[in-house]
Amino acid sequence: MSSAEEEKVVVVTGGTGLVGLGLQHVINEINPPNEKWIFLSSKDADLTNTEETRALFKKLHPTHVIHVAAMVGGLFRNMKYKCDFFRINMKMNDNVLEICKELKVKKVISFLSTCIFPDDVVYPLDEKMIHDGPPHDSNYGYAMAKRMVDVMNKVYHEQYGCNFTAVIPTNIFGPHDNFNLEDGHVLPGLMRKVYDAKRDGTPFTVWGSGKPLRQFIYSRDLARLIIWVLQDYNEISPIILSPDEEDEISIKDVAQLIVEAFDFKGEVLFDTSKADGQYKKTASNKKLRSYQPNFKFTPIRQGIRETVDWFIENYEVARK
Ligand code: NDP
Repeated sequence: MSSAEEEKVVVVTGGTGLVGLGLQHVINEINPPNEKWIFLSSKDADLTNTEETRALFKKLHPTHVIHVAAMVGGLFRNMKYKCDFFRINMKMNDNVLEICKELKVKKVISFLSTCIFPDDVVYPLDEKMIHDGPPHDSNYGYAMAKRMVDVMNKVYHEQYGCNFTAVIPTNIFGPHDNFNLEDGHVLPGLMRKVYDAKRDGTPFTVWGSGKPLRQFIYSRDLARLIIWVLQDYNEISPIILSPDEEDEISIKDVAQLIVEAFDFKGEVLFDTSKADGQYKKTASNKKLRSYQPNFKFTPIRQGIRETVDWFIENYEVARK
C-alpha cells in the first residue's frame, strides 16, 4: 500500500451530539474506502482532562481529527454560565490541539460558530472579521474561547507546521438535537414547544418578537461539507459553512414551518418580554461558493420536516 493509500483513521470528538451523529449518518451512507471513522463521546475521555485525552488519542492513533466536542447551549444557558463556557472550551481545545501536535496528526478540523463574531460589524460576516471587536455580551465566554481556536490554528501552523483549520457553521439543526427548553438552541426549542402544545391543547408561545433573522444549516448538509473540508480544503484560515444569504429566515417563519410540520392547529403567541438576542448575523458563504459553487443545500422546509419526524419517532430517547 503506498502512503497515499494508507488507511485514514479519522477520530471525531463529540461524536454523540447533533453534528457528530449527522456525520455518522452520512459516513454510514457513503462508507468511504480505506477510512476508519471513530466517533467519541465524553465516556471515552473527558477532553478537559489532559491525561485522559492523551491516553485515548495514543491508543487510537488518529491520522485526522474532527474536533466537534464543546460545551454548547442556547442563549439563556450562555448568559448564565459564561465562565464555565470559557474555561471548559478552552481546556478541551488546548488539550486536543496540543495532543494532535504531539502525535503528528495530519489534519485537525475544529468548530467555530457565527455567534463568535463581533457584535458591531457591517454585515454580511466574513471569515476575516472574527477578531475585529468584542462579541455580543450574551455569549462572551463561549465566543472568546472559540476565537482562541483560530489563534491556536495560526500559531501551531507557524511554529510547528501543523495543518489545523476550522469551520464556521451558522445555526445547525437536525435529528439528535437538544430539545431542552433551557439548554437548547432556538429551532429545537420551538419544536419541543409545538410538540407539548399539541399534546396539551395549549397555545404555542414563541419567546421574543419572532423578528430576528437567522441562517440554518441542516446537520446532514453540514456533514457532507465537513467531509469535503477534510479531503480538499487546504487553508489554515477558517471557512464559513452556511446556506446562501437569500436563505436567511425570520424566527416567525421558522415557527410557521414547524407548526406546519406538526400539523398544529392551536394558537401561536409571541412573548415580547423575552430577549430576542442579536437581530441578525448574516454570514457570507462566498468563500464556500468559490470552492463549491454547485453544492445543493436541503430546503429548510424539508430539513424541518425530517427533524420533526425524527423527534416524534424518538421522543422517548431525545434530549429534552
Ligand atoms: P452537542 O451538544 O449536540 O454535542 C456535544 C458533543 O460534545 C457531545 O458528543 C458530547 O459528548 C461532547 N462533549 C461535551 N463535553 C465533553 C467533554 N468534556 N469531553 C468529551 N466530549 C465532550 O453539540 P453540537 O453537535 O450542537 O455542536 C458541535 C460543535 O459545533 C460544537 O463545537 C459547537 O460549538 C459547534 N457549533 C454548533 C452550532 C449549533 O447550532 N449546534 C452552531 C455553530 C457551531 P457526550 O454526548 O458524551 O456528552
